[in-house]
Amino acid sequence: MVETDSFKMIQSYVEKAVKILKLNGKVLSILSKPMLEKHVSIPVRMDDGKTKVFKGFRVQYNNAHGPTKGGIRFHPNETIDSMRALAAWMTWKCAVVDIPFGGSKGGVICNPKKLSKGELERLSRGYIRAIAGFIGPKIDIPAPDVYTNQQIMAWMYDEYSKIVGYNEPAAITGKPIDLGGSLGREDATARGGLIVLEEAAKHLDINLGNASVAIHGFGNVGYNTAVLFRRLFGGNICAVSDSKGGIFNKKGLDPEAVLRHKQRTSSVVGFPGAKKISNEALLTSDVDVLIPAAIENVVTRKNAKNIKASIITELANGPTTPEADKVLHKKDVFIIPDFLSNAGGVTVSYFEWIQGLTRERWTEEKVHIELQKRMKDAFNDVLKASLKYKVDMRTAAYIVAIGHIAEVMKLRGWY
Ligand code: NAD
Repeated sequence: MVETDSFKMIQSYVEKAVKILKLNGKVLSILSKPMLEKHVSIPVRMDDGKTKVFKGFRVQYNNAHGPTKGGIRFHPNETIDSMRALAAWMTWKCAVVDIPFGGSKGGVICNPKKLSKGELERLSRGYIRAIAGFIGPKIDIPAPDVYTNQQIMAWMYDEYSKIVGYNEPAAITGKPIDLGGSLGREDATARGGLIVLEEAAKHLDINLGNASVAIHGFGNVGYNTAVLFRRLFGGNICAVSDSKGGIFNKKGLDPEAVLRHKQRTSSVVGFPGAKKISNEALLTSDVDVLIPAAIENVVTRKNAKNIKASIITELANGPTTPEADKVLHKKDVFIIPDFLSNAGGVTVSYFEWIQGLTRERWTEEKVHIELQKRMKDAFNDVLKASLKYKVDMRTAAYIVAIGHIAEVMKLRGWY
C-alpha cells in the first residue's frame, strides 16, 4: 500500500514544479490537500446472518480539470493516507495526458479473499449506496483497482442505476463489455506504456527491435507488456518475475508459454529453459529496458547503482524511491515516470466514459488510434518541458500536470 511517505514525496515534487513555474503560492496550498474526503460505514449482512460493519473511504483530490476519476480498492491494509496519495496521483495523471478529469480514489478495508460471492456483492452495493450522493458521471467516476474487478463494477453500476432510476453507464468504468465496457481496456496500460517507450527510444536513438527487456511483475500489466513488446517491436524479453521470483533467458522468453506455465504452477519460476533469478537480480539484470510492473518502492538507493538498463518505463505506481531517482539521474538513465507511463489505462477509461455518455460503441481500432495520439502528445509535452527547464522527466511530468491544473484553476478564478 502507498504510505504517508508517498504523499510527502508527491508534495515535494509539486512544490518543485510550483517553484520552477513561478506559480502563485495559493496553487500549492490548494494542491496540498484533497478537496473532499468521505469516511463511510457499510453494514453488510454476512452469510451467517450476523451484520458486519466495514469502513470505507472516497477521496476527491481536485476537480478543476473535470469530474474526478479514480479506482476503488478492496484491501485489508487500506488507509486514508494511501487514498490521499493515490487520488493526488490520479489528478496529475489525468492532467498530464490532458483528459478532462480530476483525480480521486476510494476503498474499503476488507479482505475480499475471505468473503463469499454473496457477501462481496452486498459489500459492493453497500459501498456504492454509501457514496452515491458524492459520485456520478459529471462528479466522480469510480473504476476497478486492487482486488476489485469487472464483476464488482457490474454490481456497482447496477446499484447506482437503481438509485438514480435509470441506467447510467457513464457513472462507472471498467465494466464488462456487455454492460458498456470499452474494447481495448484490458491491455491499455501496457499499450500506453509501450507508446511512450517507443517515443523515448526515438528520442534516444535506440532500436527497440534489438533491445533486451526485463519486466518486474507478470500480472495484467507485465504480461500484456511482454506480449505487445514482442508483437510491436520484436526484441527479447529476457527476464520476468512475480512475487515468488524471476526467470532469465538471454535469448528471450515466449510470454504466452510463460503464462501457460504460470497458470499450471502458480508462478513463472521453473519455466523450462530459463535460469531462476531473484526479483532483486531481475532489477539489476543486463538489459536495455527495465519495466517495473508490480509494486511500489522496488528500485531503491541500494540497487539503483547496479541497474544496467538505459531506459526505465515505470508501469507500476511509485516503483522508484526519491533516493534511487537521484542515483539513476546521475547515471543518465532515462526514466519515463509512472503517472505518464501508466496513463493508458485511465485514458481508455475516459473513452469508456464518452461511450457511456453518448451510448456509442467504439471499435478497438479507434481506441488504439486515440490512445496512440494522447500518449504520444503527452510524452512529447513532458520531453519538451524536460529540455526547456533542464530537469529530469519526472520533474517535467509534474511541471506539465501542475501547469495545466494551475492554469484552469486561474481561469476559474480559484486564486
Ligand atoms: P496484477 O495484480 O495483475 O499483477 C501484479 C504482479 O506483480 C503479479 O504478477 C504479482 O505476482 C507481482 N508481484 C506482487 N508482489 C511482488 C513482489 N514483491 N515482487 C515481484 N512481483 C510482485 O496487477 P496489475 O494490474 O498488473 O498492476 C501492476 C502495477 O501497475 C501496479 O502497481 C498497479 O497499480 C499499476 N497500474 C495498473 C494499471 C492497470 O490498468 N492494471 C493502471 C495503472 C497502474
